[in-house]
Amino acid sequence: MTGGDLEISMEGRVFESVTNSADGEVGSGTRFRFAQDGEVISARYAGGAVRLGFLVGTIDGEVLEFRYAHLNGEYETASGRSTDRIELLDDGRLRLHESWQWDSKEGTGESVLEEVEAPDGVGADGRDDTLLEEPHPTGDMDPTPEDERFTQRAIELARESVEEGNRPFGSLLVHDGEVVMEAHNRVLTENDVRRHPELHLAYRARVELEEDVRQGTTMYTSTEPCPMCAGGLYYAGLDRVVYSVSGPEIGDFTGREPPVRAETILEGVTRVDGPVLNDEGRAVHEAFW
Ligand SMILES: [Zn+2]
Repeated sequence: MTGGDLEISMEGRVFESVTNSADGEVGSGTRFRFAQDGEVISARYAGGAVRLGFLVGTIDGEVLEFRYAHLNGEYETASGRSTDRIELLDDGRLRLHESWQWDSKEGTGESVLEEVEAPDGVGADGRDDTLLEEPHPTGDMDPTPEDERFTQRAIELARESVEEGNRPFGSLLVHDGEVVMEAHNRVLTENDVRRHPELHLAYRARVELEEDVRQGTTMYTSTEPCPMCAGGLYYAGLDRVVYSVSGPEIGDFTGREPPVRAETILEGVTRVDGPVLNDEGRAVHEAFW
């Protein structure tokens, strides 16, 4: 393939390593799942001698430039950089010709990756490729009208919280399309650090709702739950948490980013989705801090 006019998107494409130099760790069985946003490309990779790896870089026509880092079978990290030339195959798949160089140790090499036909999450050979999936697809969710309506209510509760002399945080629980309970922040007025609305509703859910009801309940909250609240929610066992403003964004306002994401604490217990109505949720914080 020649010429600089190749219009290729890497989004969603899955590749497998077919050849590599002896110094390389990526080898037979290593698979890469790419994403692309404008000129930015990224991929998770795993399999073969690689437990888990990530790469990030840019695409310019038919050339990828990126840096990579991964954990090998001995739980050692390694990193380097690569330039890949894209070749378009006759059947429409892509082949990547890589020239790579370690940063973390000595060594350079060449390798070839070929695109595999892979339905979502499963390789062409039926192998489970779940390691290649983003574990928490937050940020890409498609909110339903109901999600937006109840997130709207959580943001209203955050505004009411400020009117009552507290910080701008509000949450509610919804079951079968009905609001079950609501709360806003009361840390300042009650001089009680536990009165984040999410923790308070987690506590009340345990006291007032049967387990099977909790398992079908969604929390809508103006901000992603902090680690304290996510800890409480872990024991509440709700179905979903939907937030408007993420934890890292809150750090922009308060100067203190929560050290752990809610989705990490709630993994395997409660799905965490967001952001929803992010501009509106952020506006409350922009007015307050
Ligand atoms: Zn909290």
